[in-house]
Amino acid sequence: MLHIRRRTLEYSDRRIHSLPPLAQAAVAVGSSKAAKSPTDPTDPTDPPSSIPFDLDQRDLKAPAFAPYPRVQHSEVANLETPGDNPLTPNLTSAEANMVPNPKSRVSYFYDTDVGNYHYGPGHPMKPHRMRMTHNLILNYGLDKKLDVLKPRRATAKEMARIHTDEYVDFLWRVTPDTMDKFVAHQSKFNVGEDCPVFEGLSEFCSISAGGSIGAAQKLNCGDSDIAINWSGGLHHAKKREASGFCYVNDIALAIMELLKYHQRVLYIDIDVHHGDGVEELFYTTDRVMTVSFHKYGDYFPGTGELGDIGQGKGKHYAVNVPLRQGIDDETYASIFEPTIQAVMDWYRPTAIVLQCGADSLSGDRLGCFNLSHKGHANCVKFVKKFNVPLVIVGGGGYTIRNVCRAWTYETGLLVGEQLDPELPYNDYFDYFGPDYRLEVPSSNMENGNTPAYLEKIRLQVLQNLSNTKFAPSVQMQDVPPDFFSRDDEDEDDIINPDSRPRDCRELWE
Ligand SMILES: [Zn+2]
Repeated sequence: MLHIRRRTLEYSDRRIHSLPPLAQAAVAVGSSKAAKSPTDPTDPTDPPSSIPFDLDQRDLKAPAFAPYPRVQHSEVANLETPGDNPLTPNLTSAEANMVPNPKSRVSYFYDTDVGNYHYGPGHPMKPHRMRMTHNLILNYGLDKKLDVLKPRRATAKEMARIHTDEYVDFLWRVTPDTMDKFVAHQSKFNVGEDCPVFEGLSEFCSISAGGSIGAAQKLNCGDSDIAINWSGGLHHAKKREASGFCYVNDIALAIMELLKYHQRVLYIDIDVHHGDGVEELFYTTDRVMTVSFHKYGDYFPGTGELGDIGQGKGKHYAVNVPLRQGIDDETYASIFEPTIQAVMDWYRPTAIVLQCGADSLSGDRLGCFNLSHKGHANCVKFVKKFNVPLVIVGGGGYTIRNVCRAWTYETGLLVGEQLDPELPYNDYFDYFGPDYRLEVPSSNMENGNTPAYLEKIRLQVLQNLSNTKFAPSVQMQDVPPDFFSRDDEDEDDIINPDSRPRDCRELWE
């Protein structure tokens, strides 16, 4: 048990000290490429970790029914400035996107089993926090404002859309009882300590991934404006290995689902740790822009420096905002808002996935930022205002009472409900003492992010964005079949879009 505790602590800023000297040097000089190298064309023995983007060639099929206005190829190509939105010619794009949407239709995915899984004694990742969050959401009565759905569980075949068959096969076969047979595999797939093999591991991954895929499908159907899966957000999982408590990258699976019907998908990550797994998978495409705000410098996973901006066709479509410890609400907003505003103006995503890792909150067991619940939720609020179809997922968060507070507060915000700061009685009321309130206050910790430092970052990010070919677009052609389709048993079946279920209820239990 102590072994696990020691290793998992390395997920915080102590992690770097356990690296071999060469790796330490690479991280210390900020050369995240040394640690990552998503595609190294000089090494044919190391297949790329990015998803091979045949979707770039295959492109998109217009859905049989378009749930919302879409910017078409020719219109985008003719634009000269970020402000010329063909849908609302008299408004800047920001103003057009911020036309008030009085009532968002919000769906919410939750599986009652998710809280039953345990990473092991002493491990900071506690799936129980999802059950606590759900219970608090129910006791605030927010379920009355939500379309509450139980996700279907993702299958191994679905996971293999982004992960290697060999890795998925391992995840589905290994159990605590059969670990002895997989000794070599444990090292190969980075499973064992930070990412332990626990009872029901593959089911847990299926629930997390199924919720995020379902959330994406809810948007694709035009059935919801916003879809929430607090059990998702496991952003460190790699194509062929586990990392940082994450095994299956539910976010990348959701993005792949969105890409069937969306030209450009924006991924935003406010977890205290760099969203390395998602960035790496989409590092070489302009179909997905990844934007991560994270602690950088002597901190897990060691990647996400300012100069990491994507490669090949994806150059300039990865944005990294490296931050120092102790960032507070005001300072965070001062870098988050202009960055996201510029990304929206330049990139014009037609769907957004927002990872709301709650380890960026003040007082997190592994985190080192100083955000209150309001500072954290301000990111959700800011992104929501653009009225672009939005998937919300969870992520890190290790002071679990605060994770529940923040995610409940943000669920309220997403449905337009002001919540009473006095917590309602709930099944886990004792966790919230001694104040029994909803707030997560900031502390007096020192802010390592000076205005001059943030201004330098802001200018560099805007400079990088201005190098993007404005709002890339794709032609409309065939798409792969939907996950969870009724014909999903036959992988060669290409769905006729006209036969897609109009009633999305068919897709969920
Ligand atoms: Zn994290």
